[in-house]
Amino acid sequence: MGDYSLPIRLTVLTGPSGVGKGVVVKNLLKRNKQIWLSVSATTRQPREGETDGSDYFFLSREKFTKLIAEDGLLEWAEFSGNLYGTPSEPVKRNLSQGQFVLLEIELEGARQVRKTFPEAFQIFLAPPSFEELERRIRGRGTDSEKSIERRLLRAKEELQAKNEFDAVVVNDQVFNAVSRLEELIGITKSSNFN
Ligand code: 5GP
Repeated sequence: MGDYSLPIRLTVLTGPSGVGKGVVVKNLLKRNKQIWLSVSATTRQPREGETDGSDYFFLSREKFTKLIAEDGLLEWAEFSGNLYGTPSEPVKRNLSQGQFVLLEIELEGARQVRKTFPEAFQIFLAPPSFEELERRIRGRGTDSEKSIERRLLRAKEELQAKNEFDAVVVNDQVFNAVSRLEELIGITKSSNFN
């Protein structure tokens, strides 16, 4: 993929389900308008309040499989019984326009991106403890018990992989995590707003 004349400004954020990636990313984007967040495709059902095309592209398994066959995904993985993937074209377009591009994806996807974009900066968002993570997943109240059990099992596996990452950020407080991410991505507050 080395066809970019501009420096790669691709950041991958990974972390177990329930660690608070969504809230952290939302706050990061609010403060840093120059970051473009990739919208993933998924076969999961929308949760209440989620919008197609903005939270995810909600696709049937058939459409998702077609995207894979057409080489339309930069990476994809199965998570908790559903497929998730990053559409390639918008990522490439935004990178070539010099944007900061952020992917918020799970571990298997991050590993794939490490191969295709070794220059990408990979950050792992960790919970203060496993107990706190379980409390957050259960507290969300949006998943069935079966889904919670699967997510907790997967979280244990993902936590073991944190040392593969360029940096680990502990999400103890959203504000602290966002500030740390800004430092790591190289965004200073003075250059945030134009
Ligand atoms: P959720 O169902 O809670 O929205 O997401 C479940 C997991 O899928 C999260 O860990 C999230 O980061 C991950 N995920 C979301 N989009 C993608 C994607 O495009 N690719 C991969 N590999 N994982 C994704």
